[in-house]
Amino acid sequence: MAERKVRVRFAPSPTGALHIGGVRTALYNYLFARQHGGDMIFRIEDTDSNRFVPGAEEYIIESFKWLGIHFDEGVTFGGNCGPYRQSERREIYKKYVQILLDNDKAYIAFDTPEELDAKRTEIANFQYDASTRGMMRNSLVLSKEEVDALIAAGKQYVVRFKIEPNEDIHVNDLIRGGVVINSSILDDKVLYKSADELPTYHLANIVDDHLMDVSHVIRGEEWLPSAPLHVLLYRAFGWEDTMPSFAHLPLLLKPEGNGKLSKRDGDRLGFPVFPLEWHDPKTNEVSSGYRESGYLPEAVINFLALLGWNPGNEQEVMSMDELISLFDLHRCSKSGAKFDYKKGLWFNHQYIQLKSNEEIAELFLPVLKEHGVEAPLEKVIAVVGMMKDRVTFVKELWDVCSFFFVAPTAYDEKTAKKRWKEDSARCMTELAEVLAGIDDFSIEGQEKVVMDWIAAKEYHTGNIMNAFRLTLVGEGKGPHMFDISWILGKEETLARIKRAVEVLK
Ligand code: GLU
Repeated sequence: MAERKVRVRFAPSPTGALHIGGVRTALYNYLFARQHGGDMIFRIEDTDSNRFVPGAEEYIIESFKWLGIHFDEGVTFGGNCGPYRQSERREIYKKYVQILLDNDKAYIAFDTPEELDAKRTEIANFQYDASTRGMMRNSLVLSKEEVDALIAAGKQYVVRFKIEPNEDIHVNDLIRGGVVINSSILDDKVLYKSADELPTYHLANIVDDHLMDVSHVIRGEEWLPSAPLHVLLYRAFGWEDTMPSFAHLPLLLKPEGNGKLSKRDGDRLGFPVFPLEWHDPKTNEVSSGYRESGYLPEAVINFLALLGWNPGNEQEVMSMDELISLFDLHRCSKSGAKFDYKKGLWFNHQYIQLKSNEEIAELFLPVLKEHGVEAPLEKVIAVVGMMKDRVTFVKELWDVCSFFFVAPTAYDEKTAKKRWKEDSARCMTELAEVLAGIDDFSIEGQEKVVMDWIAAKEYHTGNIMNAFRLTLVGEGKGPHMFDISWILGKEETLARIKRAVEVLK
């Protein structure tokens, strides 16, 4: 038999911002699909209209665009299995609901919410299943004429899955191995509601995975309890042969303590739990995003890839292409992954170093502009190259290197007190003359001449350099002195020394 083409899907419900755990799920699907030359589908599961949030779908699409996760087909991407938005597939689901009804795999139930509540009070641990369905108002109990009459009279109903009791259901999970559960613990799940003429998640999910020829379902652990039901649905339709393989990913856990990562952890410890900033249309609340916080998409991808998977060695920094070739579902962990957000910061620092100075300079230009600085690209590139190893975010470059672009107007008092000595004004005036006479103003060119001058005059190198730094930077920080004066250029260097001598005397 020819091997089945790998087809995976990411199938979010548009109920708000995409949680970072959902991003990891999509990433693992993407890595798996690319590695196997397969397809990645983007499906919108919006059959629960009560939970629909406007803007969520667009937000999700934009997030993946930013992260560099590409879909082969789906909502806004096209493809042969559309429509890919479940709310546009009503007629398809109706047909499949009818197939289950015709084959005695499902039945119609008229019980109102009040009647169900009454039963729950009457019977402890009530569950709608083989042991109780005989005492309820459904098509297994009522005659066909009664059922038809109720429907004709406009009574609302649901279609329930008729689960046969006492059967072992085997779920084979690529991460967790085999899981067996007994069907008696399951209730007769609602598959369809006449009220909105829409299927529930379970039915729509299975029908679509089948029709879209999905080969692997890779999703969060929270869906593991649904898997036995899904296996039964495949069986009820007679689709066992094309049932996808399951892989349930471990939960993302709080950075400290126990339990599932929540937005509150992010708020408390100061890290985003969403890829992009999110403006909640209902509450008007704004939540921070990785993009707006200054993370590079490559860093976010690398960080997330290692939350629940590792390549089996110590390698940590991996490009998307490397991840695609190394990823292995069998190496995903069963237990939850602590969301070590500090590692995310570390990755961002790493990727700033890995990117070319040109790329980082491009990202730094808007920050400079915000501060009213327009500088030649060449200079920005040189400054970035010199300073990027000191920052975690591109925007932090301003704090460490603004002096390259804006001359000091004031001089840090504490530094001046310590480093501007009695003879500093005289020495700096002399230094300015020495520098003025240098034709080769390169780092080495300056260093040689200045060091010779210091030696000849028997000056104290530290004192000279400290005062020199104060004139150019305005305080005691910064890289090597001649790196600074080289970037500033002769004219600016001399002007800064002159001004400092005037101000500090
Ligand atoms: N719509 C579900 C979600 O929001 C999809 C779960 C699945 O992948 O089966 O995550």
